[in-house]
Amino acid sequence: KSGFATLIGRPNVGKSTLMNHLIGQKIAITSNKPQTTRNRIQTVYTSEEGQIVFVDTPGIHKAKNKLGEYMVNVAERTLSEVDVILWLVEPTTFIGAGEQHIAEQLRKTKTPIILVINKIDTVKREEILKSIDAYKDICDFAEIVPCSALKGDNTKDLIDAIMKYL
Ligand code: GDP
Ligand code: MG
Repeated sequence: KSGFATLIGRPNVGKSTLMNHLIGQKIAITSNKPQTTRNRIQTVYTSEEGQIVFVDTPGIHKAKNKLGEYMVNVAERTLSEVDVILWLVEPTTFIGAGEQHIAEQLRKTKTPIILVINKIDTVKREEILKSIDAYKDICDFAEIVPCSALKGDNTKDLIDAIMKYL
């Protein structure tokens, strides 16, 4: 199996930590593959089950100028071109404006979305369940995977979930 995944989410939710954890524990290569229309850093996860190419997405935010518009267009295109979208969030029942905006963009795409609730090591189990319910209300998810990128909890399940959509 082989395919493309993109990792999105607010700053500080743990995107880099998750990427490093996933890549760090398996034999993998990182490549900076220049593409004609968009320069993106792509990271490749390789295991016996297959290969996942993580595609970097410029932030999904409201465009304030031409450059912002360009970035938003690239981000939107990426969302429709990958096999699966990983939306990384922290466990919370409060869904702020930034998250609402991301959800709005995600509702436009047909690409399967995996909600990754990261930092589960910082909260009680019932808080994880409550945040799952809160997020279910704003978007349709193919899968919901709670994990801790820092501790490595449940990250194997995340890989398995991604592989389903490649
Ligand atoms: P990014 O901005 O989304 O790339 O977030 P980073 O990967 O830079 O992480 C932001 C902060 O959150 C760092 O201090 C990480 O150590 C911390 N962090 C990331 N994942 C976890 C996690 O699963 N649990 C805890 N407790 N902290 C985490
Ligand atoms: Mg980062």
